[in-house]
Amino acid sequence: MKVVKFGGSSLASGNNVDKALNIIKSDPDRKIIVVSAPGKRNAADIKVTDLLITYAYTSLRSNNYDNIANKIFKRYELIAQYFDLPEKELAEIKRLLFALPKLDYPNADYRMATFKAHGERLNAMLTAKILQHQGIKARFLEPKDVGLIVTGTPNNAEVNPETYINLKRIQLQTDERIIFPGFYGITPSGHIATFSRGGSDITGAILARGFNVDLYENFTDVDAIFSANPSIIDHPKPIKKMTYQEMRELSYAGFSVFHDEALIPAIQGEIPVNVKNTNAPEKPGTLIVPEDNFVPQRTITGIAGGKNFAALYLRKYMLNKGSGFTLKLMEIFNKHHVSYEHMPSGIDDLTIIFKKDALSDQLIDVICNEIQTSLNPDQMQWIDDYAITMVVGEGMKDKLTLCASILYPLGKKNISIQMINQGASQISIMIGTRRQDEEAVIKTIYDNFNA
Ligand code: ASP
Repeated sequence: MKVVKFGGSSLASGNNVDKALNIIKSDPDRKIIVVSAPGKRNAADIKVTDLLITYAYTSLRSNNYDNIANKIFKRYELIAQYFDLPEKELAEIKRLLFALPKLDYPNADYRMATFKAHGERLNAMLTAKILQHQGIKARFLEPKDVGLIVTGTPNNAEVNPETYINLKRIQLQTDERIIFPGFYGITPSGHIATFSRGGSDITGAILARGFNVDLYENFTDVDAIFSANPSIIDHPKPIKKMTYQEMRELSYAGFSVFHDEALIPAIQGEIPVNVKNTNAPEKPGTLIVPEDNFVPQRTITGIAGGKNFAALYLRKYMLNKGSGFTLKLMEIFNKHHVSYEHMPSGIDDLTIIFKKDALSDQLIDVICNEIQTSLNPDQMQWIDDYAITMVVGEGMKDKLTLCASILYPLGKKNISIQMINQGASQISIMIGTRRQDEEAVIKTIYDNFNA
């Protein structure tokens, strides 16, 4: 049995949905289907999830929300019309959509989560109806029906382990397809809460683990995961196979094909993940597998770069001899709910690397003030244009001259390296540079190892 997940771009129009349905119908093992909300049909289009966010705000300000609600409904209606689904089949979808502003919510965050989740909820209902209309036995099931329980905050929820006990109890009939909405779960008190954006991948992985399937197929709009960003490298090599750990390290610095949190349930359940293209399902895509028995074919599997980092450089003489400096620093971060990515340190200094979008200018000033007052560093510098490049490969383990062969060509090109960090697993090297150098770093390393 397989779990199959289709992303928003694969379900954006009737034509796309048709391709997705053909993929489902071509394999009886594709029994559990997870859907995203309809995505963009072209570059200028707006994802249904984003329309729902606008709907949530508009309906909070006034009762004049028919325009935006109709615009959202139209997206589903157009898909339904493509399949000649009778208009009456859409009545429930319309009712649920227009009722959203009138429901009671514990607070504004739950309200927003419920609006957002309806992109997937209504799409799963619609997909089930289209399949039934085509004479296929399809059943709409959603988190409350199977006990997909989440905790955490309403718009950034996490799966609760109880979910896996609940899923074990669900009986599936042999000839039916389950159509399940991605992106949300229910809280212990029964409210809707969503994962972070792009979180339908997470739902697919939870169901894959919960139903202990043989394969989790994740259909998107690219042929495979590439060994480097195609907007930087011309026709980079596709990755045929890689390990969970490689994928984790790559998605961390910017490989956004597959949600990085989504890998965790797959890892826990040891379910292989196959990323494939809805527009070219015959292509093998990228297979992500457990580390055991994995034989790397190349030294470097992939190079990923993230430009959206910032760093705080702190110098304090005798840092290595004193105690409590880092603890006080952590207390300041903790007080302001700031999480950091890395903290490489030296004898007299340390650099703390942050994801930029988590910090506002005001917060940066507050934190720097507090550090200055309570820790009195000898030097403090905020570097706003930090980039991180991750070089990842199971084949990098125990390669003696690897660092030299990565760094030497960069030096020859006068690229200044701010930081280098080899992961404890030995399968990744992280290189910190200024933002303007990041593309040159990726190109140089890629050319050097693929020449
Ligand atoms: N529809 C949600 C989003 O746009 C979740 C997803 O597509 O995976 O973030």
